[in-house]
Amino acid sequence: MAKNLTKQFCQLYNSKTLENLRKLPESRVRSTSNPAQPVDITTSTDESEKLQNILPIQVNGTVIHGFGRGSKELGIRTANYSEQIVNGMPGDFQTGIYYCWAQVVYAKEGEDQQNSADVRRTQILPAVMSVGWNPYYNNEKKSMETHVIHKFEEDWYDYQLRLMICGRIRGETNFTSLQALIDAIWQDVEDAKMLLESDWSLACKSEGDFFLE
Ligand code: ADP
Ligand code: MG
Repeated sequence: MAKNLTKQFCQLYNSKTLENLRKLPESRVRSTSNPAQPVDITTSTDESEKLQNILPIQVNGTVIHGFGRGSKELGIRTANYSEQIVNGMPGDFQTGIYYCWAQVVYAKEGEDQQNSADVRRTQILPAVMSVGWNPYYNNEKKSMETHVIHKFEEDWYDYQLRLMICGRIRGETNFTSLQALIDAIWQDVEDAKMLLESDWSLACKSEGDFFLE
């Protein structure tokens, strides 16, 4: 199937299945896949009703060079999107930390293949995304940075990152120490892994044809 793999976009996605799950708010925070297992209810999301109505959001964007501090200072790498993507997000999309599904597609912008099956891509992987002004660093520019919860052997700058943004974990916070920020990021990773097991997240992952098989 020929597909425009490198087109840049942010778009809302909905379907009957998601619409029905939307009416059951608990499907966003807990999994019912194994009812015998005790449910951890300490992880609750921080979503406004307006935000809930626009999720999930599908994004495809080229990964650009960021501030170069991710690995050095924090020990956690974050792939940055271009300003075009950041500014193109819907108005009701709040800043904060989000849990997402991610897929790296090894194609450069403008480099679409006739046969998309020939293009290398990863599996669909769990991810945490931060969008905002990064108060700890007094950033002046809004950024969208994603940590994919996976060990990569090589960098993937200039390639496409497909993201299905499923829900919001928390808002932005100003941390008093670098260690407090690092601890919070690792907690976000754990929360994201748990939230991605919910019925809502699993439906987001398998609905539509956003991700390449
Ligand atoms: P930069 O400031 O340029 O974003 P980082 O130190 O944050 O630098 O590293 C981000 C880059 O690392 C990404 O663009 C990607 O190419 C690569 N990378 C490798 N593994 C990961 C990962 N698990 N999650 C995000 N990016 C990763
Ligand atoms: Mg980064």
